Amino acid sequence: LLQLYVPLNLLGFVYRQLKQAVIDLEMIHSLKQRRPEIADAPNAEPIRIAGGRLRFIQVSFAYDARRPILEGIDFEVRPGRKLAIVGASGAGKSTIARLLFRFYDPSDGRIEIDGHDLRQVKLASLHDVIGVVPQDTVLFNDTIAANIAYGRPGSDRDEIVEAARVAQIDTFIRTLPEGYDTLVGERGLKLSGGEKQRVAIARVVLKNPVILVLDEATSALDSRTERELQIQLQRISAGRTTVVIAHRLSTVIDSDEIIVLAEGRIAEQGTHRSLLQHRGLYARLWQRQRPLDGEPAEDDNSRDLM
Ligand code: ADP
Ligand code: MG
Repeated sequence: LLQLYVPLNLLGFVYRQLKQAVIDLEMIHSLKQRRPEIADAPNAEPIRIAGGRLRFIQVSFAYDARRPILEGIDFEVRPGRKLAIVGASGAGKSTIARLLFRFYDPSDGRIEIDGHDLRQVKLASLHDVIGVVPQDTVLFNDTIAANIAYGRPGSDRDEIVEAARVAQIDTFIRTLPEGYDTLVGERGLKLSGGEKQRVAIARVVLKNPVILVLDEATSALDSRTERELQIQLQRISAGRTTVVIAHRLSTVIDSDEIIVLAEGRIAEQGTHRSLLQHRGLYARLWQRQRPLDGEPAEDDNSRDLM
């Protein structure tokens, strides 16, 4: 039995490694298609983390040179602190997340983690230390367990289930005919936007990154599930450098700093309190979103305000 078990185990290991390599290749391939310069510099070294201090230094960016998206974006997030980015749809919030993950390079200025310019470190090592819960999560044609384990290849079932619990998707998975072995993705069970977001959250729980980026991570959830997950996300982000992009202001109150993006620039910057006192853009948005009955607003209009 042992003779059979060892090679099978080894095969499983090789399979997982191969699959990860294929996924990485796909990511690199799609990156190359977008921007050929997104590649390791000849002298690139693995990033050395010392706490996870994040800096955007006068960052400007345009997908198309004729239409600037970000201009002179300048901020710092100290290790373990939480920065919130709010602003109207199309303001450039997700673009900041993409630059941080180095899907693109700034056209001007630079981005640093612990003093290292992102263009000078190995991409793979950068992707190891940043965990993103994106606005739209991609599922692979595989089991839901494998899709969660994508956060950290090689995770065992107990770890996957624990991550699913934290992300509040374990109960749902258990109702599926084949539980964690249910096939999802294009050729399997289609998950709702909210279910996919919880898979993405389970992935970052497993990944345990130094820097956490939440890009409207709970926008597709109903408000009750969202509130429950917010509590979990606050726990996950505690003591971890976090950038939270929010559609709903009630989720950013506890941030150490809030940036209001408007037309590609930082229009206002401060804490929830100081921004309210300032009586500017943020205060107006807060006023519009403020729940009247203590419940977060349910209608989609209030979400679109941001
Ligand atoms: P937000 O997340 O604040 O809603 P985004 O950062 O996604 O905004 O987008 C900012 C602007 O950049 C929008 O006008 C959007 O249409 C444009 N944009 C986003 N992605 C691309 C892209 N890949 N190519 C060209 N324009 C893009
Ligand atoms: Mg966005």
